[in-house]
Amino acid sequence: MISKPKGTLDFLPADAFKRLHIEDKLRRIASLFNYKEIRTPAFEKTELFRRGIGEETDIVSKEMYSFNDNEFTLKPEMTAPVIRAYIENSLYNVSPVQKLYYISNMFRHERPQAGRYREFSQFGAEVIGSGDYAADVDLISLGTSFLSDFGLKNLKIKINNIGNLDERRTYIADLKKYLEDYKNHLSSESHKRLFTNPLRILDSKDGKDIEIVKNAPVIFDYLGPDNKSHFGNVLKGLESMGIQYEIDYKLVRGLDYYTSTTFEIASDDLGAQNAVLGGGRYDMLVQQLGGKATPAIGFACGLERLTLVLEANKYEFPEPGNPKIYLVSAGEEAKKKVIVIANELRMKGIFCETDLLNRSIKAQMKDANRLNAGYVCVIGDDELRSGAVKIKNMAGGDETEIALDNIVNFNFI
Ligand code: AMP
Repeated sequence: MISKPKGTLDFLPADAFKRLHIEDKLRRIASLFNYKEIRTPAFEKTELFRRGIGEETDIVSKEMYSFNDNEFTLKPEMTAPVIRAYIENSLYNVSPVQKLYYISNMFRHERPQAGRYREFSQFGAEVIGSGDYAADVDLISLGTSFLSDFGLKNLKIKINNIGNLDERRTYIADLKKYLEDYKNHLSSESHKRLFTNPLRILDSKDGKDIEIVKNAPVIFDYLGPDNKSHFGNVLKGLESMGIQYEIDYKLVRGLDYYTSTTFEIASDDLGAQNAVLGGGRYDMLVQQLGGKATPAIGFACGLERLTLVLEANKYEFPEPGNPKIYLVSAGEEAKKKVIVIANELRMKGIFCETDLLNRSIKAQMKDANRLNAGYVCVIGDDELRSGAVKIKNMAGGDETEIALDNIVNFNFI
């Protein structure tokens, strides 16, 4: 027996049906906001992620599935591929602002745990070409809209502004200076990060680190007037729509490409992995990947985590439909006729099921009941001879006689 790789999931029909429902809803809401779908390959040149996400990030330094002598990598996130496609296909010539969304599988070699997998799916959206605060508000409200459309409560939006490159450079220098005094008290992971990626120490989950970071310099004090006013306008925009938020100056996010606005939506209904959606501005990325300087902002939402939150909130997923009619066959000739009629019904868009196991009439009736079929019609030698059949309504039990060749025109209700 060969089992699936660690950290991957099988979507059996009931799970796949739930996922399809989630995706349908996401697509509907994305289109209300005029976001258009984009699809990119499952793998990209490794260089794209090295340059796009940053060498020192967890993803690039230890989580990538690379192959062919490291030339290619299964995509661990979608922003770099979307920007690659934006530049490669000159999407800026199509319209000055591109509002794009995707639903796609991602691959990260992480330690699997509840809500954290090696293959997972994200719904994400990107606004490319606008640095205006209205773009931040548009994107964040897309994120909150679909979550509230699912009836989710207990959601917390955390938001921050981590400045432009210059502002951040000054901040990081001061942060490093502050943290160096405590370097022997930091967790070993944060100690390493002091030299590689000190910003990430701010969102360490280690108790000692949290205490040390409490009195660290605050990024807001390092923002220039443009980012301060941008931040203020985004917050006012959210307030005007009744979106509740909490400013979190320690929200830096894991990827190197973020600038200015960063945000996260978490749910109290999840354990340690409680962030269901995260994103931010990345005004330098297009240029970094070889395009013209273009501001942009995006978010990604993990669909497995979203499903966990929905289940914790007792969200009522729709049930798969039942067959409208089950054609029961008795005998070889009837079986042949049933194949033809079933096909005609299906071509007319009527959900029809038949027996595939040569079962007795009784066993086929049982199957029809198990499937909760709306109607049942038994076809045997008598029906073939007379050319008439009875269609039984399984709810009321009443039967209607109809010509065998006219079943497809029966008024199913
Ligand atoms: P990130 O791309 O790391 O900013 O993550 C965005 C969202 O994707 C997170 O908030 C999670 O919902 C989801 N996510 C990230 N990594 C994983 C993973 N390994 N397994 C499941 N979901 C994930």
